[in-house]
Amino acid sequence: MKNITAILCLLLLTLSASADRVKVRLFTNNSIDLINISFDLGTYNLYGGDTTLIAAEVGNDKSVELTPKGKLVHVAIDGYEYGNYPHVTFSATDTACILCLNPRNVKQRTYEGNLIVSVGKNGKLFIINDVEFETYIAGVVQSEIYGTQSDIFRVQAIISRTWAMKNIHKHKNEGYNFCDQVHCQAYLNRCVRPDIMLGTMQSSGMTIVDANDKLIETPFHSNSGGQTANSEDVWREAVPYLRSVPDTFSYHMRQSEWVKVVDESKWLNYFANKHKLDITNDSILNELLTFSQSQRKVRLCGVPLTRIRTDFQLKSTFFSVLYDSTAHRVTLSGHGFGHGVGLSQEGTIRMVGLGIAYDSIIHHYYTGSHIHHDETHPHSYVENYIKQIARIIEEDKNLSTQTKSKKDDWLGRLFRVRDREEREEVYDPTTEELDSDWKYDW
Ligand SMILES: [Zn+2]
Repeated sequence: MKNITAILCLLLLTLSASADRVKVRLFTNNSIDLINISFDLGTYNLYGGDTTLIAAEVGNDKSVELTPKGKLVHVAIDGYEYGNYPHVTFSATDTACILCLNPRNVKQRTYEGNLIVSVGKNGKLFIINDVEFETYIAGVVQSEIYGTQSDIFRVQAIISRTWAMKNIHKHKNEGYNFCDQVHCQAYLNRCVRPDIMLGTMQSSGMTIVDANDKLIETPFHSNSGGQTANSEDVWREAVPYLRSVPDTFSYHMRQSEWVKVVDESKWLNYFANKHKLDITNDSILNELLTFSQSQRKVRLCGVPLTRIRTDFQLKSTFFSVLYDSTAHRVTLSGHGFGHGVGLSQEGTIRMVGLGIAYDSIIHHYYTGSHIHHDETHPHSYVENYIKQIARIIEEDKNLSTQTKSKKDDWLGRLFRVRDREEREEVYDPTTEELDSDWKYDW
């Protein structure tokens, strides 16, 4: 038993030390003038500026409040004032540490890793999460897709990882890698679900590359409506791996169909006034009132469908027009949700449900691409991490929701094995075969 614990510690510490880290700006779209920070797991050292230790090993009995004071950050712990600093760093003392961030007037979120808080040019708090790359990816996957099968998360992790690696310098000039909004990728919380972490870890080191082994752009959307779009039909550039493909997997899902009713006069005046179309011309009028797409088209009477989509706030450009001459209105009957380029998330969910492999799904949506597998970490220890998370998921199946507590989620349980008292509970001593799986040449 001791042996397993020691190896697990070594494994996790090494994983942590060797993994790349990224800086992600949090609450990018919010103006924050007060944030309360508490500690859900582990302890943190608080530093003011680069070197001043404000407080050591602050844990779950403490609460830190930060406010901007001119260009400095004012620190109070449990109501006591600790001074003003150019920036305040929350440095995790262990691999598994969770912060709970509670800004005034904004919904609370939790994150792993370190936190760096300063004052931005607007006089509001500027909050950066310094976190392991794969932990960030798992948080993105949780924010970007729904589902229950780990292969769904595996596919999303591969495309999110590919995007992140290709765009690692997106916010370089502002001093961080990514924002937490869809401008980069949504990262609205730490990953709290072990099945999402499992899918992320199962794809560890995997990215999508083109025929020249270059990382691809990986646009995705909610639902293609039955056919994906060519990149040049939505944006300008024709990209070889972003081709329109039939996609029946996107049928019969949450976002497969939509309807929007518009007054006839509003519909026709839009084309007459904004696009200078002669609506007294019978053929133009007829086209505007009977436009139909069984296959995706790009324009309606010369007007880009992408423009119409924006102006009428439509879910997609993949719609047909049904005219009701009695009620003097048109019904826009559409398929799918999103720009339609690249991967359909609901198509992916459907394909996984049908048992189609994650790599086939990626090949279906990104034409001619292939998966590159960089095994920087020894494969065996990723495998063991996966095994431990899979064990937690199995345990969860037998737990009622009442017995799951916030502070007892998969991360805490994964790391609690380091606690001597808990060890016997966590591990079944009969699982001797683990020993042979856990041999490394350190
Ligand atoms: Zn961004």
